[in-house]
Amino acid sequence: MTVSDFTKAAADGNLEALQEGINTFKNIDTLDQDNQTALGKAVLAGQLDAAQMLLNAKASAKVKLTDDKTIIQWAREQKDNDIAFLILLYNYMDRIAYSTNIWEKTRKTFKRPDDCRYCDICSGKIQEEDSLALDLDEVFESVPYTERLYQQCLALKAPQFSNKSKKEILDYVKEQIKNNNKSDCYMVCNNCTARFFQNIVYGNCQNDLIDAVNEIMDQANPEEK
Ligand SMILES: [Zn+2]
Repeated sequence: MTVSDFTKAAADGNLEALQEGINTFKNIDTLDQDNQTALGKAVLAGQLDAAQMLLNAKASAKVKLTDDKTIIQWAREQKDNDIAFLILLYNYMDRIAYSTNIWEKTRKTFKRPDDCRYCDICSGKIQEEDSLALDLDEVFESVPYTERLYQQCLALKAPQFSNKSKKEILDYVKEQIKNNNKSDCYMVCNNCTARFFQNIVYGNCQNDLIDAVNEIMDQANPEEK
Protein backbone atom coordinates (compact mmCIF):
# COMPACT_ATOMS: atom_id res chain seq x y z
CA MET A 1 0.00 0.00 0.00
CA THR A 2 1.35 3.43 -0.95
CA VAL A 3 0.77 6.67 0.96
CA SER A 4 -1.67 7.84 -1.71
CA ASP A 5 -3.63 4.56 -1.41
CA PHE A 6 -3.82 5.22 2.32
CA THR A 7 -5.02 8.81 2.07
CA LYS A 8 -7.44 7.80 -0.71
CA ALA A 9 -8.94 5.17 1.60
CA ALA A 10 -9.54 7.99 4.09
CA ALA A 11 -11.15 10.21 1.43
CA ASP A 12 -13.33 7.31 0.21
CA GLY A 13 -14.31 6.23 3.71
CA ASN A 14 -12.95 2.76 2.89
CA LEU A 15 -12.48 1.65 6.48
CA GLU A 16 -10.98 -1.74 5.70
CA ALA A 17 -8.21 -0.26 3.56
CA LEU A 18 -7.79 2.53 6.08
CA GLN A 19 -7.21 0.06 8.92
CA GLU A 20 -4.66 -1.73 6.77
CA GLY A 21 -2.85 1.58 6.26
CA ILE A 22 -2.92 2.37 9.97
CA ASN A 23 -1.33 -1.03 10.61
CA THR A 24 1.19 -0.54 7.79
CA PHE A 25 2.50 2.98 8.25
CA LYS A 26 4.66 3.80 11.22
CA ASN A 27 3.77 7.47 10.76
CA ILE A 28 0.08 7.86 9.86
CA ASP A 29 0.62 11.61 9.39
CA THR A 30 2.75 11.10 6.29
CA LEU A 31 1.92 13.59 3.52
CA ASP A 32 0.66 12.38 0.16
CA GLN A 33 1.16 13.96 -3.28
CA ASP A 34 -1.44 16.63 -2.42
CA ASN A 35 0.41 17.55 0.80
CA GLN A 36 -2.39 16.03 2.87
CA THR A 37 -2.39 13.47 5.63
CA ALA A 38 -5.01 10.72 5.77
CA LEU A 39 -6.89 12.72 8.44
CA GLY A 40 -6.77 15.83 6.25
CA LYS A 41 -8.27 13.87 3.36
CA ALA A 42 -11.00 12.40 5.59
CA VAL A 43 -11.84 15.92 6.81
CA LEU A 44 -11.95 17.39 3.31
CA ALA A 45 -14.19 14.57 2.10
CA GLY A 46 -16.46 14.74 5.15
CA GLN A 47 -15.75 11.10 6.10
CA LEU A 48 -16.75 10.97 9.76
CA ASP A 49 -16.03 7.28 10.45
CA ALA A 50 -12.67 7.44 8.71
CA ALA A 51 -11.76 10.56 10.70
CA GLN A 52 -12.70 8.83 13.96
CA MET A 53 -10.67 5.75 13.09
CA LEU A 54 -7.63 7.96 12.41
CA LEU A 55 -8.12 10.00 15.57
CA ASN A 56 -8.34 6.78 17.60
CA ALA A 57 -5.02 5.80 16.03
CA LYS A 58 -3.61 9.16 17.24
CA ALA A 59 -3.49 10.98 13.90
CA SER A 60 -2.40 14.59 14.40
CA ALA A 61 -4.84 17.47 13.95
CA LYS A 62 -1.96 19.93 14.13
CA VAL A 63 -0.94 19.39 10.51
CA LYS A 64 -1.78 21.85 7.71
CA LEU A 65 -5.15 21.39 6.04
CA THR A 66 -4.92 24.49 3.86
CA ASP A 67 -2.07 26.92 3.19
CA ASP A 68 -2.89 28.94 6.28
CA LYS A 69 -4.79 26.59 8.59
CA THR A 70 -4.15 23.39 10.48
CA ILE A 71 -6.93 20.84 10.89
CA ILE A 72 -7.59 21.99 14.45
CA GLN A 73 -7.71 25.66 13.38
CA TRP A 74 -10.22 24.72 10.70
CA ALA A 75 -12.29 22.77 13.24
CA ARG A 76 -12.51 25.77 15.60
CA GLU A 77 -14.19 27.83 12.90
CA GLN A 78 -16.88 25.33 11.93
CA LYS A 79 -20.48 25.37 13.10
CA ASP A 80 -22.66 22.24 13.35
CA ASN A 81 -20.01 20.07 11.75
CA ASP A 82 -19.67 16.54 13.16
CA ILE A 83 -16.08 16.02 12.07
CA ALA A 84 -14.98 19.38 13.46
CA PHE A 85 -16.69 18.52 16.73
CA LEU A 86 -14.93 15.14 16.85
CA ILE A 87 -11.56 16.79 16.27
CA LEU A 88 -12.14 19.32 19.06
CA LEU A 89 -13.36 16.55 21.37
CA TYR A 90 -10.25 14.40 20.83
CA ASN A 91 -8.09 17.47 21.28
CA TYR A 92 -9.83 18.25 24.57
CA MET A 93 -9.45 14.68 25.83
CA ASP A 94 -5.73 14.80 24.99
CA ARG A 95 -5.49 18.05 26.91
CA ILE A 96 -7.13 16.50 29.99
CA ALA A 97 -4.81 13.48 29.87
CA TYR A 98 -1.85 15.83 29.55
CA SER A 99 -3.06 17.99 32.47
CA THR A 100 -3.54 14.92 34.68
CA ASN A 101 -0.02 13.81 33.89
CA ILE A 102 1.46 17.18 34.80
CA TRP A 103 -0.54 17.38 38.02
CA GLU A 104 0.67 13.95 39.06
CA LYS A 105 4.25 15.03 38.51
CA THR A 106 3.63 18.33 40.31
CA ARG A 107 2.10 16.66 43.34
CA LYS A 108 5.21 14.53 43.74
CA THR A 109 7.26 17.70 44.14
CA PHE A 110 4.84 19.33 46.62
CA LYS A 111 6.19 19.47 50.14
CA ARG A 112 2.86 19.91 51.93
CA PRO A 113 -0.56 18.57 50.97
CA ASP A 114 -2.05 22.06 50.68
CA ASP A 115 0.66 23.31 48.31
CA CYS A 116 -0.65 24.38 44.97
CA ARG A 117 0.35 25.48 41.52
CA TYR A 118 -0.20 28.98 40.19
CA CYS A 119 -1.90 29.91 36.94
CA ASP A 120 0.75 30.65 34.31
CA ILE A 121 -1.27 33.61 33.05
CA CYS A 122 -2.67 35.44 36.14
CA SER A 123 -0.56 33.79 38.90
CA GLY A 124 -3.71 32.89 40.88
CA LYS A 125 -3.73 29.67 42.89
CA ILE A 126 -5.07 26.69 40.97
CA GLN A 127 -6.21 23.16 41.70
CA GLU A 128 -6.33 20.39 39.18
CA GLU A 129 -10.10 20.58 38.72
CA ASP A 130 -10.10 24.26 37.77
CA SER A 131 -7.14 24.22 35.42
CA LEU A 132 -6.39 23.26 31.86
CA ALA A 133 -3.11 22.60 30.07
CA LEU A 134 -2.26 24.60 26.96
CA ASP A 135 0.93 24.42 24.98
CA LEU A 136 3.01 27.46 24.22
CA ASP A 137 1.98 27.59 20.55
CA GLU A 138 -1.69 27.55 21.51
CA VAL A 139 -1.18 30.32 24.05
CA PHE A 140 0.42 32.47 21.35
CA GLU A 141 -2.40 31.69 18.92
CA SER A 142 -4.91 33.51 21.11
CA VAL A 143 -5.42 37.02 19.77
CA PRO A 144 -6.94 38.36 23.02
CA TYR A 145 -3.89 37.09 24.93
CA THR A 146 -1.17 38.20 22.51
CA GLU A 147 -2.83 41.61 22.27
CA ARG A 148 -2.60 42.00 26.04
CA LEU A 149 0.96 40.71 26.11
CA TYR A 150 1.95 43.15 23.37
CA GLN A 151 0.48 46.09 25.29
CA GLN A 152 2.37 44.97 28.41
CA CYS A 153 5.62 44.83 26.42
CA LEU A 154 5.06 48.34 25.04
CA ALA A 155 4.37 49.64 28.54
CA LEU A 156 7.76 48.34 29.67
CA LYS A 157 9.46 50.71 27.19
CA ALA A 158 12.34 48.22 27.11
CA PRO A 159 15.19 49.07 24.70
CA GLN A 160 15.02 45.65 23.00
CA PHE A 161 11.45 46.44 21.90
CA SER A 162 12.12 49.82 20.33
CA ASN A 163 11.56 49.99 16.57
CA LYS A 164 10.30 46.41 16.57
CA SER A 165 7.11 45.23 14.92
CA LYS A 166 4.35 43.56 16.90
CA LYS A 167 5.29 40.21 15.44
CA GLU A 168 8.97 40.66 16.27
CA ILE A 169 8.15 41.56 19.87
CA LEU A 170 5.81 38.61 20.34
CA ASP A 171 8.31 36.22 18.72
CA TYR A 172 10.99 37.52 21.06
CA VAL A 173 8.81 37.02 24.15
CA LYS A 174 7.79 33.56 23.01
CA GLU A 175 11.43 32.60 22.51
CA GLN A 176 12.29 33.88 26.00
CA ILE A 177 9.49 31.85 27.55
CA LYS A 178 10.56 28.78 25.60
CA ASN A 179 14.09 29.10 26.94
CA ASN A 180 12.93 29.57 30.53
CA ASN A 181 10.08 27.06 30.67
CA LYS A 182 11.37 23.54 30.19
CA SER A 183 7.96 21.89 30.04
CA ASP A 184 6.64 23.99 27.12
CA CYS A 185 3.27 23.83 28.85
CA TYR A 186 1.00 26.39 30.42
CA MET A 187 -1.33 25.46 33.27
CA VAL A 188 -4.17 27.94 33.07
CA CYS A 189 -7.03 28.66 35.49
CA ASN A 190 -10.65 28.52 34.34
CA ASN A 191 -11.01 32.30 34.53
CA CYS A 192 -8.08 32.86 32.21
CA THR A 193 -9.33 30.13 29.87
CA ALA A 194 -12.69 31.91 29.70
CA ARG A 195 -11.04 35.27 29.19
CA PHE A 196 -8.36 34.42 26.63
CA PHE A 197 -8.54 30.87 25.33
CA GLN A 198 -12.21 30.14 24.79
CA ASN A 199 -11.83 29.84 21.05
CA ILE A 200 -8.55 27.92 21.19
CA VAL A 201 -9.98 25.21 23.43
CA TYR A 202 -13.64 25.02 22.38
CA GLY A 203 -13.89 26.60 18.96
CA ASN A 204 -17.58 27.19 18.30
CA CYS A 205 -18.92 24.36 20.43
CA GLN A 206 -18.16 24.95 24.10
CA ASN A 207 -21.35 23.59 25.71
CA ASP A 208 -21.68 20.55 23.48
CA LEU A 209 -18.00 19.77 23.98
CA ILE A 210 -18.18 19.98 27.77
CA ASP A 211 -21.32 17.78 27.78
CA ALA A 212 -19.60 15.18 25.63
CA VAL A 213 -16.44 15.22 27.75
CA ASN A 214 -18.48 14.82 30.96
CA GLU A 215 -20.34 11.90 29.44
CA ILE A 216 -17.08 10.19 28.51
CA MET A 217 -15.63 10.85 31.96
CA ASP A 218 -18.75 9.48 33.67
CA GLN A 219 -18.51 6.31 31.61
CA ALA A 220 -14.83 5.99 32.47
CA ASN A 221 -15.37 6.54 36.23
CA PRO A 222 -18.87 5.28 37.08
CA GLU A 223 -18.07 4.82 40.78
CA GLU A 224 -17.62 8.56 41.31
CA LYS A 225 -21.29 9.29 40.63
ZN1 LIG B 1 -5.42 32.58 35.60
